[in-house]
Amino acid sequence: MSAKIISGVEIAKAIRKELKEEVEELKAKHDVVPGLVTILVGEDPASVSYVTAKSKTAHALGIYSEQVDMPGDTSEKELLELIHKFNKDKKIHGILVQLPLPKHIDEGKVLYAIDPDKDVDGFHPVNVGKMVLGERCFLPCTPHGILQMLQRSGVETSGAEVVILGRSNIVGKPMANLMLQKRAAGNATITLCHTRTKDTDFHTRRADILIAAVGVPNLIKADQVKDGVVIIDVGVNRVGMSESGKAILAGDVEFESVKEKASFITPVPGGVGPMTITMLMKNTVQAAKQATGLL
Ligand code: NAP
Repeated sequence: MSAKIISGVEIAKAIRKELKEEVEELKAKHDVVPGLVTILVGEDPASVSYVTAKSKTAHALGIYSEQVDMPGDTSEKELLELIHKFNKDKKIHGILVQLPLPKHIDEGKVLYAIDPDKDVDGFHPVNVGKMVLGERCFLPCTPHGILQMLQRSGVETSGAEVVILGRSNIVGKPMANLMLQKRAAGNATITLCHTRTKDTDFHTRRADILIAAVGVPNLIKADQVKDGVVIIDVGVNRVGMSESGKAILAGDVEFESVKEKASFITPVPGGVGPMTITMLMKNTVQAAKQATGLL
């Protein structure tokens, strides 16, 4: 049996349509225009393309967006001053600083400087703490997107054995926390694996839902999963270049073999990736509603 493909492209499209309508309604009924600023320091090509995609998506949804491109030698002080300026700017409800930052800038200091009420990436400790406690907050975009994919595909998470590979602050750790919450797309039993895990295969083979966020191309093969597993492949790995000069991408899971055993699987590209930017837009709309007393 071949797995049902969970298309992030299609789910993201549906959520964006809902968001566009919500933004139109906010404007028409409340004269509120959600505003997002994206700040990029330096010219890393991947970061440039992410930031451009974020600004474009915001624009397409009717969200007011500003993009600030700063040179790679921008000082930490200058960046902090810019963040303080946007913290006070009433037009701006969400502030996103594209990571990674150049080495001479302390990432923690910068993320902590963002007003938690404008922290649409969900990386500020106030939002991380609220997420762990199950309080309303900005959820980090990639795990939030995965929850939406599971819910909208009708995957039952309650009581499921969920095995997560990778313990990063942006995917693995928040994913584990979210899926053990007592609410929709939660109530799962969580195992979190990393490079010190003694027998990763033992865990992957008993997973009802396997979420791979390690950054190793095709790490998980068919013999490491059970029949009927749900696969969420977060990995984005460049494994070559096409003749037209486009990067060839692979996930952390060997798609062709594993899809024959799984019940659901996300492709790479076209799986988790498109959801991440979409959830950033969702958080921006949420920020605008919170700031104007509508939520
Ligand atoms: P990361 O910071 O790159 O860390 C990788 C994690 O995987 C670490 O916790 C590491 O363990 C663990 N790991 C590495 N090899 C392993 C193995 N063989 N078995 C078990 N665990 C292993 O993680 P990340 O930032 O979450 O990124 C992971 C992947 O997801 C990357 O390919 C990234 O590009 C992709 N990603 C995609 C999106 C999206 O929107 N689609 C968003 C974010 C990330 P240790 O902690 O022990 O080192």
